[in-house]
Amino acid sequence: MEALVAGGAGLIGSAMCARLLERGDRVICVDNLVTGSAANVEHLIGDRGLTLLEADICQPLALPPGVHLDAVINLACPASPVDFEHLSLEIMETGSRGVANLLDLARDHGARFLQASTSEVYGDPVCHPQPETYWGNVNPVGPRSVYDEAKRFGEALTMAHHRRFGTAVRIARIFNTYGPRMRADDGRVVSNFVTQALRGAPLTIYGDGSQTRSFCFVDDEVEGLLALLESDHPGPVNIGTDEEMTVRTLAAMVIGLAGSRSEIVEVDLPVDDPVRRRPDLTLARRILGWQPTTSLEDGLASTIGWFRDRLPS
Ligand code: UDP
Repeated sequence: MEALVAGGAGLIGSAMCARLLERGDRVICVDNLVTGSAANVEHLIGDRGLTLLEADICQPLALPPGVHLDAVINLACPASPVDFEHLSLEIMETGSRGVANLLDLARDHGARFLQASTSEVYGDPVCHPQPETYWGNVNPVGPRSVYDEAKRFGEALTMAHHRRFGTAVRIARIFNTYGPRMRADDGRVVSNFVTQALRGAPLTIYGDGSQTRSFCFVDDEVEGLLALLESDHPGPVNIGTDEEMTVRTLAAMVIGLAGSRSEIVEVDLPVDDPVRRRPDLTLARRILGWQPTTSLEDGLASTIGWFRDRLPS
């Protein structure tokens, strides 16, 4: 298969590129390197079969000659809440014009299109756990709205394209994902806690730490996305882990696994921070025959090891 992976230098994108190459596919990795990093894919370039194209999906893409794509996998978008303020308009552009460009590309190549959507389409959910049939509880004008609404728009655009042109689309709703190659300054809870624990700095719990999330290891996430791409179900399908925990429990786990003496401090809770989040994976298990297999202990240990090797001593 020849695949274009947009956002291929990011956390999930780089794991996706590596997995596709491992099974013998050719990969064009497109990334504007705003939140992704070339270092995440440099080891895959050249003989390993990966072409890195530094480009913005909001502009028409100039692909190398002779390319005939079988799949367009769209993982491109700044996704950390810390990006929502300073990249607000870029996120909205990426979720609209960027998605439209990639949909047109998929249609023109007769390729399958996978859109990375998000659990954020459920907003601060009043339904728990969240099945795909739940329409969500999003504040349309709050600080998270640029991401939430761009992703909701992206889903609508993907389905409109499918209905108008018959494009073979798949929509995945990705829940909190972590693993090696997260940005150290990403601002998200796993990278913050791991880097803080390794430096011996206090772990910053936002609010009282009673809010919950369900953390999926990046390799499991990629397997789920590929199972969806290869299925004949347009989605949306939740892809994540349904092991739910409080942020405070996560902090204690990271401290233990890192062998750290860090303390825990409470700081202000961001506006509109969802109170709880857990995917209902019934649909994914039934139609994809997929489920995550990496325990949080193992995934966190591997993530801690990766950061430990890279943090300045
Ligand atoms: N969080 C935290 N400390 C941090 C970073 C995040 O307590 O240093 C909390 C945040 O308020 C949220 C949860 O951890 O409740 C997950 O945050 P993250 O930014 O990783 O992802 P989100 O699910 O909010 O998109």
